[in-house]
Amino acid sequence: MVPGFITIRSVASLAKRTKFSMETPEEVFIFDVIIIGGGIAAHTAALYTARADLNPLVIAGYEPDQLSLTTIVENFPGFPNGVDGPQLVLNSKKQAEKFGAKYLQENADSFEFNKKENNFEIEAGGKTYISRTIIIATGASARKLGIPGEDKFFGRGVSTCAVCDAALYKGKTTIVVGGGDSAMEETLALYKFAKKVYLIHRRDEFKASKIMQDRILSLNKKNDKVEIIWDTEIVEVLGDKSVSAIKIKNLKTNKISEIKTDGFFLAIGHTPNTSIFKGKIKLDKEGYIITDKLSKTNLPGVYAAGDVQDPIFRQAVTSAGAGCQAAMQAERYIEHLKAEGKY
Ligand code: NAP
Repeated sequence: MVPGFITIRSVASLAKRTKFSMETPEEVFIFDVIIIGGGIAAHTAALYTARADLNPLVIAGYEPDQLSLTTIVENFPGFPNGVDGPQLVLNSKKQAEKFGAKYLQENADSFEFNKKENNFEIEAGGKTYISRTIIIATGASARKLGIPGEDKFFGRGVSTCAVCDAALYKGKTTIVVGGGDSAMEETLALYKFAKKVYLIHRRDEFKASKIMQDRILSLNKKNDKVEIIWDTEIVEVLGDKSVSAIKIKNLKTNKISEIKTDGFFLAIGHTPNTSIFKGKIKLDKEGYIITDKLSKTNLPGVYAAGDVQDPIFRQAVTSAGAGCQAAMQAERYIEHLKAEGKY
């Protein structure tokens, strides 16, 4: 944890200190780079900026990143036998720390552009952190359906992470909703433990990659432990103290019915974590940060990487690549400030 409590004085005094020091936490300190986020995009940006001697601070937040909620990752290059997702993230963080990146386990509560000083202020854990550049890698959070019972039973049978909770459902009945790779992955995770997994999708074909679909469809053919229910939406989550059933509606026949279950897993995509940037940085209509090919946002000195700016690919490898790009751009921006005498 970074103990520094940054007090803002004049620009002149800010300019005097450019190295963060644990020993003088009360002094004004301005970072070259603050990275907001705790996933592989953030760790890669931290690794690159640390190796560029920019002494990055990573405000990592509390919410686990997407890779930490997965199991084996089979498509990250360099690991012919796959790699454990949480371990990959942990290793990336360790690697960045090895080169001097500092981590703060707090959520970033606000973001401000100080136009006069041409720098950025982040509030986190009641303290203000100032930086010349910002890399936003806050990722995206699991989406909810917004139906009755969903919030009431969240954590009591309703979950967004089968990979985390599957072992709790040994010998039980479970339901997964969604048709993308996440839904396939959740179904596979539950298959190992549950006695029955219903996979419910609103259309009659999956959106998931072929390899993931094939795994589920072959399990479905092999036995009746996995049952796919097509063209169906979830209407309500039912229960008393915890989930006991869900109400569903067949979209072709409009027939409403109920399925008894112990667990209900949401795997319907993600929403970008951009609430603190609303009105300050350009977002698209779904709330993703808009970046150009150089990872730049509309604010000079602010870059974005990973799921927070990527509604299309959202892979571990593309996130890591984007973190690298953002870091290299931040480094160039700092060089540019120096060259123009604005550092
Ligand atoms: P996704 O690809 O956006 O899929 C979301 C699914 O949920 C879609 O099938 C969608 O239905 C359905 N859905 C969305 N809103 C819904 C609603 N309100 N009610 C019912 N269904 C709803 O999201 P994802 O599966 O989380 O995957 C995100 C990205 O991560 C993808 O790029 C994926 O490849 C990647 N990923 C990869 C792996 C892997 O390679 N092992 C694992 C997990 C995720 P429609 O099909 O009708 O749109």
